[in-house]
Amino acid sequence: MAVTKPIRVAVVGLGKIARDQHLPAIAGDERYSLAATVSPDDPALAGIPHHSSLATLLAARPALDAVVLCTPPQVRYELAMLALARGLHVFLEKPPGATVCEVETLREEAGRRGTTLFAGWHSRFAPAVAPARAWLAAARIRRVTVTWREDVRTWHPGQGWIWEPGGLGVFDPGINALSILTHVLPRPFVLTGARLAFPANRAAPIAAALTFQDTAGVPILMDLDWRQSGPPIWDIIVETDVGTLKLQSGGALLSAPAGPEPAGTKPAGAEPAGAEPAGAEPAGARYAEAREYPSLYERFATLIHDRSSEVDARPLQLVGDAFLCARRESVAAFHD
Ligand code: NAP
Repeated sequence: MAVTKPIRVAVVGLGKIARDQHLPAIAGDERYSLAATVSPDDPALAGIPHHSSLATLLAARPALDAVVLCTPPQVRYELAMLALARGLHVFLEKPPGATVCEVETLREEAGRRGTTLFAGWHSRFAPAVAPARAWLAAARIRRVTVTWREDVRTWHPGQGWIWEPGGLGVFDPGINALSILTHVLPRPFVLTGARLAFPANRAAPIAAALTFQDTAGVPILMDLDWRQSGPPIWDIIVETDVGTLKLQSGGALLSAPAGPEPAGTKPAGAEPAGAEPAGAEPAGARYAEAREYPSLYERFATLIHDRSSEVDARPLQLVGDAFLCARRESVAAFHD
């Protein structure tokens, strides 16, 4: 039996997400071996070659198949271009770039060079997202409400880049909601209105109120706020003609009525089947162990094997549209 060689991967940007998720996912997947790490100031891992820049790593001509870019988004494009030029496969953390044009250019470059480019949207791999998508495929949706509120001091302490141009501010977590929505809703949707609140001393928003409409006219309302005190709220609530689907805890928890029946089979005005009574607590199923990052690495390995790419820029496009069309207000200065 042929033995498949592991994919030799370098992790670039050894910050929070690399240490919390990428390194354990790589260590736990026999399809990969960690060949090197890159970070300007972070300490090396024992026994793993470490460089302060991707350029110096590549200059050392390492035996390498792929790079995983876990840096802030503002430097992602340049690093990805460097790696693609070497014929390496590239896994982009979310968001896949600072601009949509960067991402499209990377997609073309990977296609031209025949290497794999994977724009990973980790929230799409949250355990309740696939069942929600299946349930919604046959639903008659009336309204969607998204609430994504968290305390920035808890989740992004001292991260200067997140407040700089290209850092996205509250859209750094908010784009996770958009990555789920663009995946689970059965029709495309476009921005119809946006208000962004910028702290007086920052270049990125601390809160955003957005409205969208899908191609059947269904309204989608989105409330993003980093000034939350107490536990975070990461909820997507979808009202349908057979009751309300609740996708909560960032995609870990799902409650939905039985069904729904395929569109067109239920007479207009019929009572919702199995809908929750008003005010009921969600009886949600919390899906087993969260395996977002192991699943991302599974997907990356499959793409490399199949010599294909997966690059969906829609969540970033929608954020870009909000920056293009929003009314802006200045709010109290933010200090970490
Ligand atoms: P972070 O803790 O600030 O880490 C970023 C790392 O990138 C730092 O180690 C930084 O090194 C390094 N870096 C910066 N410029 C670099 C360059 N040119 N070459 C190599 N390394 C460079 O940020 P993070 O929270 O891990 O977030 C990184 C990305 O992951 C963001 O796009 C974020 O949206 C995404 N993400 C984060 C989370 C999370 O829970 N934090 C979850 C999912 C996705 P220095 O510190 O030395 O500058």
